[in-house]
Amino acid sequence: MKRHKLFIHIYIPHMIVLLLTLFAAGSWALRGARQEHYTQTRHSLRATAHMLTETLARLPDPLADPHTLDALCKAKGKATGYRFTVVLNSGRVVGDSHEDPRTMDDHSGRPEIRLLIGEPADAVGWSERRSDTVRMNMMYVAVPWQGETERMGFVRAARAMGDVDLAVARQRVRIVGVGLWLAALGALVSALIAGRLSEPLDRMRQQVQAYAVGRSGLHLPSSPILEIHTLTEAMNSMAGHLNERIQTIVRQRDEQNALFSCMTEAVIAVDDQGLILSMNPAAMHLFRPDHDAVAGRPLQEVVRNADVQRLWRKTLDSPDPVEEDFVIPDSDRFLQAHGTALTDGHGHRIGAVLVMNDITRMRRLETMRRDFVANVSHELKTPVTSIKGFAETLLDGAAEQPEERLRFLKIIDKQADRLKAILEDLLALSSLEHDAENGSLPFQKTRLAPLLEQVAKACQEAAAKKDMTIALSCHADLKAVVNAPLLEQAVVNLVGNAIKYGLERTEISVSAERTDAATVIRVADQGPGIARQHLSRIFERFYRVDKGRSRSMGGTGLGLAIVKRVAIAHGGRVDVESQVGQGSVFTIAMPDRPA
Ligand code: ADP
Repeated sequence: MKRHKLFIHIYIPHMIVLLLTLFAAGSWALRGARQEHYTQTRHSLRATAHMLTETLARLPDPLADPHTLDALCKAKGKATGYRFTVVLNSGRVVGDSHEDPRTMDDHSGRPEIRLLIGEPADAVGWSERRSDTVRMNMMYVAVPWQGETERMGFVRAARAMGDVDLAVARQRVRIVGVGLWLAALGALVSALIAGRLSEPLDRMRQQVQAYAVGRSGLHLPSSPILEIHTLTEAMNSMAGHLNERIQTIVRQRDEQNALFSCMTEAVIAVDDQGLILSMNPAAMHLFRPDHDAVAGRPLQEVVRNADVQRLWRKTLDSPDPVEEDFVIPDSDRFLQAHGTALTDGHGHRIGAVLVMNDITRMRRLETMRRDFVANVSHELKTPVTSIKGFAETLLDGAAEQPEERLRFLKIIDKQADRLKAILEDLLALSSLEHDAENGSLPFQKTRLAPLLEQVAKACQEAAAKKDMTIALSCHADLKAVVNAPLLEQAVVNLVGNAIKYGLERTEISVSAERTDAATVIRVADQGPGIARQHLSRIFERFYRVDKGRSRSMGGTGLGLAIVKRVAIAHGGRVDVESQVGQGSVFTIAMPDRPA
């Protein structure tokens, strides 16, 4: 449909009506004026024709001398400027003001004459036509010529209408002129009216368009035209409501986005066609899509995981929320996923929201806890079984044999020591973790040289048994903010291991020094070293490189785990450098901390 501006819609019909009106009024006026002129002329011709019939009636015998009639016509014609013709009943012309009647043909057929035949004496016959004789429009008016007893013939008066037509033409020019002025005035007024109506609407349109694309607010100015004023009021109020709603929606959206963004759970909203509606930062981090712009892209393209796609499909098909656990193969991450259907206002399913919780840490902790319990049970089982076995043997009669009794009791004592050592280490670990978590461990600025000397003293006996020497290297003034008993315990563990696993007659070096913003304690031995594959695990609880050897040496498998916890409690870390056959170097690094 072709659309035009309101201006055109108002202006064109206005102009059509105006021009038609002007044309109709002009034509009607012109026609009236012409008719008026012609009627007057007809009356005037009839009057003069009657005057001539009266003159003829006064003639005693008008037909006696045809020249008399002709001369009368000519005299009358000269006096009035009209043409007079006297026609007998037979149609023969006997007098004419402008022609010689003898040369004139039968006039009984002329329309104005024919109209009178059989008509009463006061009848008038008239006709307008073009005269070939004078070559212009003529008006003929004929009246009966009554003799004393009978009708003698007809008197006809005629007049050339050229001047009347000219007057009418002049009138037409004047009317057309006035009409054109009126049309111009009408065009101007129409344009003003159309402009006055369309201009506020046009302005309104511009403002509404600007509002629609969010370029500005909507404050339409008031209009003196009631309808437009009502419309602007309604639109201003509608824009006000709309603004409020938009603000509410924007606020809700921002809140949702903030919520969505700060959630640690990965959230993906997918429509029923499998196209992603949105994905929060946690989900982006988890699935690492190749593009940041994921909205509108297929789920299977963005999240290349069959489990996620199955969850989406299942959520759409299931009447209830669904829950599943799965693993992301590439990254070995465990996910606990919930799928809830998205519905529209009519309760139709339009997609699904998938919420995935990364439970890898929880799973690992669970596994660690399980392993730990299994390890503790296993570690405790051996000495307990041994104690139980030897105690039963003693009860069964071995107690009666003094040698056996002593041997068994020694074994029971050794196993009980082992149990005690394990339990002490476990308790130490547990209270260490507990205190570190609570922040209840006391720290004090301590000189490290005496602390290391204390360690050397504690380990001296064991070292001496293997003919090993402990070399200390620490500046006498070196101080650090530490928990002295714990740190001493950690270094004792390290030196104890160096003695346990080191070679006889070798030296163990224990040193402490300050490096950039940290204090480092190093324990180096010349023992067998540790193979590379074990290095990352020896700080785990109950991890041993050589189980039999460790046990035979009274190791609990918890010594290095305690060292690690102590280092962590000091905000630091423990490291090991070792190669098989090259000895090992354990390092506790503790960053400086306020006293
Ligand atoms: P354990 O009670 O068995 O000594 P640790 O936790 O102290 O337990 O040590 C774990 C394991 O690390 C030990 O079983 C041992 O195999 C290895 N290890 C520790 N220190 C040394 C060392 N200085 N030289 C060689 N191996 C060591």
